[in-house]
Amino acid sequence: MQPTNASLAGHAAIVTGASSGIGLAVAEAVAAAGAAVAVNYHAQAEPAEELVGRITAQGGRAIAVQADVSQEAEVIRLFDEAAAAFGRIDLLVSNSGVQKDAAIGDMTLEDWNTVIGINLTGQFLCAREAVKRFRAQPEQGRPARSAGVIVAMSSVHEIIPWAGHVNYASAKGGVRMLTRSLAQEVAGDGIRVNAVAPGAIRTPINKEAWDSEEALSKLLRLIPYGRIGEPEDVARAVVWLASDEADYVTGTTLFVDGGMSLYPEFRDNG
Ligand code: BGC
Repeated sequence: MQPTNASLAGHAAIVTGASSGIGLAVAEAVAAAGAAVAVNYHAQAEPAEELVGRITAQGGRAIAVQADVSQEAEVIRLFDEAAAAFGRIDLLVSNSGVQKDAAIGDMTLEDWNTVIGINLTGQFLCAREAVKRFRAQPEQGRPARSAGVIVAMSSVHEIIPWAGHVNYASAKGGVRMLTRSLAQEVAGDGIRVNAVAPGAIRTPINKEAWDSEEALSKLLRLIPYGRIGEPEDVARAVVWLASDEADYVTGTTLFVDGGMSLYPEFRDNG
């Protein structure tokens, strides 16, 4: 598939959770659009370093930074390292996310806290740090019309309830209101805040939903457009939202889901 034509030339970006899946594709696409990228990872150093190698081999700028986004001090260090490497920060893609699935009776407090910690508190910590830095940067020398952009990785489960996943759906519902409330709060500073809500995308997080023919055909019943999404589908949407092409777009969620959120059960008259 073609990369998007939107340009991020001269931007400096942080992409969290960029060692696999959607985050990896986003970091690659952001770099292909011309941005310098801090590739954040939690545990998987190797794919993050490989990605940095690929980007720099193509003439781009990238660094890998280990940090757990649920930990305040680590988030501050992540931003410090990115700012030290690139001189500024123009874009945060807060993508880190995990699932710890369990029926309510079996869901431990640890399952709950881990998912809320990474998927929601992590988004808060990164967004707060990004806003502080965007506000402190001089207007002169900005590569974009905005003073900074945040793209939060949400999910169709910011609106679709999901039995057996109350921690995950609650976190994503929280991301929806974090995005909208923060967008309202910082629009006057020239900062844009949006979310992308992927549906079923072929990544390790949901492997059991697509890696057998039986599972895939069951999944496709939920996707009117008739195919599973690829990480690049999401990455292109992120690059567009981050670019000046989307300069008047703030406080919204862009669904990239092949229609999964369109109540597919009603296709045949309900
Ligand atoms: C989840 C996936 C799931 C998809 C659609 C995503 O947010 O991480 O596991 O397949 O939503 O239900």
